[in-house]
Amino acid sequence: MRIETLDILRCPFCGGRLELVDTHFHRRDGDDIVDGILGCHCCVFPIVAGIPIMHLEPAAVAARELVEAGRPDAAAKKMFGLEDDGQAARFEEIAASPNATYRDTVDALGAGFEGGYFLYRFSDPTYIVADAVVRAVGATTLERGGRAIDVCGGSGHLTRSLLDLTPAPPIVADLYFAKLWLARRFTAPGCEPVCCDANAPLPFASRVFQAVVCSDAFHYIWTKRLLASEMMRISGDDGAVAVTHAHNAQQWNPSAGMPLPPPAYRDLFEPMHPRLFAESALLAEIVARGAVDLSRRHTPDALDADLALTIVAATRDDVFRMHTGSSRPAARGEFRVNPLYVAEPDGERVRLRLRFPSEDYEQEYAASRTYLADDVSVDRGALAALPASRLPAGLADLARRRVVLDLPVRYY
Ligand SMILES: [Zn+2]
Repeated sequence: MRIETLDILRCPFCGGRLELVDTHFHRRDGDDIVDGILGCHCCVFPIVAGIPIMHLEPAAVAARELVEAGRPDAAAKKMFGLEDDGQAARFEEIAASPNATYRDTVDALGAGFEGGYFLYRFSDPTYIVADAVVRAVGATTLERGGRAIDVCGGSGHLTRSLLDLTPAPPIVADLYFAKLWLARRFTAPGCEPVCCDANAPLPFASRVFQAVVCSDAFHYIWTKRLLASEMMRISGDDGAVAVTHAHNAQQWNPSAGMPLPPPAYRDLFEPMHPRLFAESALLAEIVARGAVDLSRRHTPDALDADLALTIVAATRDDVFRMHTGSSRPAARGEFRVNPLYVAEPDGERVRLRLRFPSEDYEQEYAASRTYLADDVSVDRGALAALPASRLPAGLADLARRRVVLDLPVRYY
């Protein structure tokens, strides 16, 4: 972690500032703390592989004892949850390889990890709405700089969008250490990961973020009242809170979590003047026009009928306007074929066919059928230009249709 991150980090329990305990084992690399122990008025927390662990789950306590004993590698193994020696050895080999991909590394973490779906995140409907909303909100509240945070950000897919909005390194906060490690290594290089529990007070100072976002996670948090007030507390006076893909309790969902009905979400964010949007209506606008209209009031019936909701809360009115997206000809990572497509040679052309990873995926993300073509034919020469850091002119239409994506380097 960067040493200046200590300026905004606070103990989740006593609210105190944290300092590196330099009487204990620690390793620094320039302005980065690689391993060490942070102390406040009440607790000690470990930094493992550059990630501060601001909770007291059993693995975190064990990892802290291992760092104190001068065994940072064993602490990292503990935090990755690699109990089986064979699996741990395989993961260490993959993690040490400069050519390993996000996909290889996720596979090495074991079958259950990430559910396998996150490889396909960059074209799924949940992400498309979250990315567009976060860019719209952030373009306003981060216009003059400031920090952003992705709460429950997992392996950093949405954090990657925040990197485009502000020069300050965005924070990605999540309970799962391995996801944060993946975010920094692959998905959102340059982000600052913080391992913490969203069911506890967030380990940050008040009013330090101009954009506080949380996607596809709020409904899994039990202490929603606490998380909502914490997200508003850490938001700056001119900042905004955006919760995207919050499951709607009025509708059935295969991975429901503990969802609320629309008025209950509104009540939670009431101090910051929230507006609610039906996700399917936002998606339709983004797909058709590349625009997000946050000025339009969605009716209570439309909100009740939608599977998921977007909540934007801000005391400034200029967030609630029509936002038109801009195309980005230069990749943050590299332009490549969407991993949902399988290539088949066809003479001078190549056929790209849409293949969902499972029936469950196809069902859960059925809305992606509205913009992902079943089958497209591409000139072989045009496709041979990929991966590319600038979008080849002949592939602009496929990029618009999300068959070609700007993906992290070494993603799959
Ligand atoms: Zn404390």
